[in-house]
Amino acid sequence: MIFNQIFEMVNVGIVILDKNLNVYEWNRWMEIHSNISKKKIVGSPLFDHYPFLNNKWFLRSCKSVLAFGNFSFFSQKLHQYCFPFKPINTMNCKFKFMQQNCTLGPLRDEKHQITHLYIMVQDVTEVAAYECTLVELNSRDGLTGVYNRKFFESRLREEFERFKRYQTNYSLIMQDIDFFKGVNDTFGHLAGDHVLKAFASVIISRIRGADIIARYGGEEFCCLLPETPISSAQTLAEHIRKKIEDMVFEYEGLEIKITVSQGIAESDATMTSPDHILKLADEALYEAKRTGRNKIVTHTASRLKETKAAEAAPPKGA
Ligand code: GH3
Ligand code: MG
Ligand code: MG
Repeated sequence: MIFNQIFEMVNVGIVILDKNLNVYEWNRWMEIHSNISKKKIVGSPLFDHYPFLNNKWFLRSCKSVLAFGNFSFFSQKLHQYCFPFKPINTMNCKFKFMQQNCTLGPLRDEKHQITHLYIMVQDVTEVAAYECTLVELNSRDGLTGVYNRKFFESRLREEFERFKRYQTNYSLIMQDIDFFKGVNDTFGHLAGDHVLKAFASVIISRIRGADIIARYGGEEFCCLLPETPISSAQTLAEHIRKKIEDMVFEYEGLEIKITVSQGIAESDATMTSPDHILKLADEALYEAKRTGRNKIVTHTASRLKETKAAEAAPPKGA
């Protein structure tokens, strides 16, 4: 009687299945979140209600629990959830479904024979959302809000691995604002900060959702363009170059003009590390600086190629 009350009152979902994976018990927590009453579900196959669970991972786990008495854990990090329930607090919730940690384990009779299995469902939505926020904060640059170098390097590693496996090309654009020291010297550091933020916004407005823009250093930015050939990267870089060249950055009545130099490189089968493409893009950027600024230089594994040259000018008033 007492145990029965606890079973109904605990703040976790408890499901008990028989050996044929029919529902044997369904506690109050499960009733509330599933909108399926105990009366309706007990005695019926779990998969009739949740066909999505009829997958090889879940089935294998159930079999292993019932046959060998093993325990199985479906972590939120890997699976997000087992039961597609609505999150309790839907306001500002970034998840469509309640995030869950689910444990499966055996239940035995007096003869120690396994007769049932239990599934314990824990709502971890709040913790998962908090973790997401921390990860997000940790991957952003404080001034401009674009990704930081650490995050960028981890995404670059992923792209490098993906290319090795599936030959999905990617390109990299390294951008460095020309004569930026002059902006600070002429207009002040706060104006310089404002220009950096506005510059980042221009890039964000030009790239696709799958692209990554990161602040690589002071006035240096990097765009990682997955599944993008170098020709498309060049087109994008030229749009950015022109937009920045034409733009007037306004800050507290000041009008500031800047230009940007860009170096581009593309993934290549000969590349042996994720850093390789960075090195090539950096070399191309250096070449763009060396040969006049406000221009784009592309670098393939074997050559440097200048695609656009324009007169570079120090910032207005510098
Ligand atoms: P180049 O065309 O060769 O790139 O010249 P540059 O002046 O842009 O390059 P340099 O490396 O000499 O100077 C970079 C400047 O960027 C110096 C530094 O004070 C400024 N900078 C770096 N980070 C920030 C920042 O967060 N805010 C501001 N306002 N300035 C920054
Ligand atoms: Mg610079
Ligand atoms: Mg620089």
